[in-house]
Amino acid sequence: MAWFNKKSKRIEAVPPEERVVKTENVFVKCDGCEAHLFKGELEDGLQVCSHCGYHFRIGARERLAMLFDDGNYEELDAEVISLDPLEFVDSKPYPERLALAKGTSGLPEAIINARGTVADHSVVAGAMDMLFIGGSMGSAVGEKVTRLIERAMKERSALVIFSTSGGARMQEGTLSLMQMAKISAALAVMDEARLPFISVLTDPTTGGVTASFAMLGDVIIAEPKEGVDWFRWSESYRANYSSEAAERLPEVRVSSRTWHD
Ligand SMILES: [Zn+2]
Repeated sequence: MAWFNKKSKRIEAVPPEERVVKTENVFVKCDGCEAHLFKGELEDGLQVCSHCGYHFRIGARERLAMLFDDGNYEELDAEVISLDPLEFVDSKPYPERLALAKGTSGLPEAIINARGTVADHSVVAGAMDMLFIGGSMGSAVGEKVTRLIERAMKERSALVIFSTSGGARMQEGTLSLMQMAKISAALAVMDEARLPFISVLTDPTTGGVTASFAMLGDVIIAEPKEGVDWFRWSESYRANYSSEAAERLPEVRVSSRTWHD
């Protein structure tokens, strides 16, 4: 007869593959000051570093959720998508590039249009996203921005646009560049209607977006240390071209400048 009996089961050994501290995806390194930040803390601070104030890049849908009351908004114009009028091929055909961008970003285009309220005021807003072919502006982006402006006038709403862009979408050639004039003309009409357009520049805002609507706000707000250029060579070409194609192009940098604070 045994003197002692085990009341509970034997404790099983932890398998070696599980003997690690599970910190993956818990910390994020700040690009501004290299501090390691808790992901939850960063989310609570709306993606701004609590040590140095560095603003992390934010996706279009996340940005809109931060803007609108209680994070509620109605997405608009999702049916407006890019076609391939020039049958453009660089390192891969344009339709293939579009499909890839849709898959990786989960977005229909490089801008998301939305309607909602901000502090109970009616607002229409657009948020661009670098994940979709470098936030480049093709004819679909131009059409979506124009529709936002027209809707603001029709509904007597304020307009807010968060820009982040590598510039015009090279795969659509001149059609991309034409969007600059189309949007600028619509904004001139909105100006006469005396409705506010608040342009928010986020990192990076470059090329044809800087040269058109991003700089035409009644109020222009920029994130601290955000890169604003008329032409940011590296960002634009990393987004739009293969490295070989970029090397073949002549250097036609018109001006390049980054503003801080
Ligand atoms: Zn920092």
